[in-house]
Amino acid sequence: MAGMLNFTVGPVVSCPEVLKIASMSAPYFRTSEFSDIMFQNEKLILKFLNAPDDSRCVFLTTSGTGAMESCVMNILNNQDKVIVINGGSFGQRFVKLCELYGYNMAEVKCKFGHQVRKEQLYALAGKGYTALLVNMNETSSGVLYDMPLISKFCKENNILLIIDAISAFITDEIDMTEFNAAAIITGSQKALAVQPGIAVIALAPAAINRIQKNKEKCMYLSLKDALKNMERGQTPFTPAVTTLVQINKRLTVIEENGGIKAEQERVAWLASYFRNKIRNYPFELIAGDKSNAVTALYPTTCGAKKIVHLLKDEYNIWACPNGGDLADEVFRIGHIGNITKENYDTLFAAFDDMKIQGVI
Ligand SMILES: *Cc1c(COP(=O)(O)O)cnc(C)c1O
Repeated sequence: MAGMLNFTVGPVVSCPEVLKIASMSAPYFRTSEFSDIMFQNEKLILKFLNAPDDSRCVFLTTSGTGAMESCVMNILNNQDKVIVINGGSFGQRFVKLCELYGYNMAEVKCKFGHQVRKEQLYALAGKGYTALLVNMNETSSGVLYDMPLISKFCKENNILLIIDAISAFITDEIDMTEFNAAAIITGSQKALAVQPGIAVIALAPAAINRIQKNKEKCMYLSLKDALKNMERGQTPFTPAVTTLVQINKRLTVIEENGGIKAEQERVAWLASYFRNKIRNYPFELIAGDKSNAVTALYPTTCGAKKIVHLLKDEYNIWACPNGGDLADEVFRIGHIGNITKENYDTLFAAFDDMKIQGVI
């Protein structure tokens, strides 16, 4: 699969500094040197999120969904009344988790590709809701939810805010303090752009207090245990060691190259370069407020599956298919990872060729 151009939303292309680490054997990790790496990871992530004082970070060896489940299980309990914003497959995942854990839940349904509306949220004000779960970027559609609106609603109604920022971390501005978020989740294979295997949760004191009080329901995904081990820069069980070292390299490189803001601007520039040019092709951009991480497209002259397959088999380009009912309607082009303007020009050359061939 060498020579493939990767425009998916994860795993994505890593930078050369990270690739160097990925080629090495994993170091032994019950050492003070590894703990220092973990503490530095924590420090940089909390800094990039502008987390409030006394926040902590935990690193779980699981995909992002494992961290979603871990938050639902460890921070909430069956006394909670939970609001879930559901505008696509990742919102649906939180719905499923709340159902599985038997929580009292209200779904705020957003039409695919549409922003959450103020009336939808405020219809639930004053009804005893205690927590809200949202995927900051609904990666299936690329809608970046209106976080100022959502966080204001949560503050006014004393609702605990838990944010899945798995595909929004690094690509879009997150201010954990301003949002008054209790927990923010991300994962290693999205804009962190390292190998899969690690999910990260930043926890504000509001979440930490709940974790300490709640009864543990699971051993492997226990946040109480993860927090306790993180006091010494460790994890309860063997983590995805090299992925953690790669995260350290990536965070340090971001910091050295001008910080989180500069990296956000780089991703935003790529997204807007792509969005300006794609107007010349028979694809509609999914409506709504778009994240910098990904653009979802409706092809108007050909099925989405065919485009994804042709790009892969004829042009060595990975685009990101959608799943479920939309598999043949929508496909996505990501803007994360170590990709360049020239890579997009190669993608547009493939679209030009598909036009000439009469495919699109
Ligand atoms: C990728 C992603 C996830 C988690 O996916 P995993 O495959 O479990 O890593 C969850 N939420 C959002 C918004 C995502 O983009």
